[in-house]
Amino acid sequence: AKAEGRRTYRFFTAAMDTEARRRVVLADELRRGLAGGEFFLVYQPQVDMRQGRIIGVEALVRWRHPTRGVVSPAEFIPAAESNGLIVQLGEWVLRAAAYQTRAWMDRGLAPPSVSVNVSPIQFRHPEQLEDFIGALVRETGLPRGVLQLELTESALMEASMAQADVLDRLHRQGLKISLDDFGTGYSSLDYLHRYRVDEIKIAQEFVQRMVDNRGDGAIVRAAISLAQALELRVLAEGVERADQAKMLADWGCHEVQGFYFARPLPADEVEKLLAQRTVK
Ligand code: C2E
Ligand code: CA
Ligand code: CA
Repeated sequence: AKAEGRRTYRFFTAAMDTEARRRVVLADELRRGLAGGEFFLVYQPQVDMRQGRIIGVEALVRWRHPTRGVVSPAEFIPAAESNGLIVQLGEWVLRAAAYQTRAWMDRGLAPPSVSVNVSPIQFRHPEQLEDFIGALVRETGLPRGVLQLELTESALMEASMAQADVLDRLHRQGLKISLDDFGTGYSSLDYLHRYRVDEIKIAQEFVQRMVDNRGDGAIVRAAISLAQALELRVLAEGVERADQAKMLADWGCHEVQGFYFARPLPADEVEKLLAQRTVK
């Protein structure tokens, strides 16, 4: 057992070493990528199924890495969160989305809302976020109602007084707040009315399992009625098939996002859909 323990120990330190080294390299590359313009945004339409109309788009970040090709945010967002670069990256995303929205507005193409993901780490500096958005809105002349921030439950769970105040002020200035990945966090529900939440987004894992699993279906239905009772908008994400769309419509959730309707697309491709205002 002793030999086994020692072997495990050695293996573990070697693995940690590689992991630590990988993280340092990734941090350097992220910093360089941000300076070198390697990031770009794709936009996924959000659709009201009743008319097939596009009611918004969600901006999602991508990294065009010089040797590894396009890297998914699932790979680099956690790294950027652990070394603090997420604040800079998050500001880059907000600025890029705001300027893109401005350009769409000037051509009469802007959708009713443009959603941007805000990391809980970025939200730990709420005044910085508020000031940044304030400056950005002045700079671009965007009407505030068009920008929507997507925050996860964990960001709101930890919310301090300062954060609650910032959400309140942003909300009064017209910014919309969406609660992302609803159902996957601690599911304490009181923050839904304690903070200024406008919309809940039902997490895709529930949506994808609900057809085959009654428990997941019950959660989705409960989330829809909760939103209705609190007079919040409700959007289901990760809709991949017609039967899922049908089930959501039957349960009274008409706003959806997912591969079944449209994938996240580069700006020039999503523009074609924005021009016709629908996904089909
Ligand atoms: P999320 O905010 O929940 O975004 C939805 C993710 O689901 C996106 O993955 C999207 O491409 C994917 N998706 C959309 N429809 C479907 C579908 O029908 N089926 C399936 N299987 N997936 C679908 P993506 O773009 O890889 O982003 C992953 C996560 O990375 C996001 O999850 C979000 O947490 C984070 N992320 C992306 N962009 C940003 C950003 O600009 N800032 C921050 N802080 N996080 C971001
Ligand atoms: Ca999101
Ligand atoms: Ca989500």
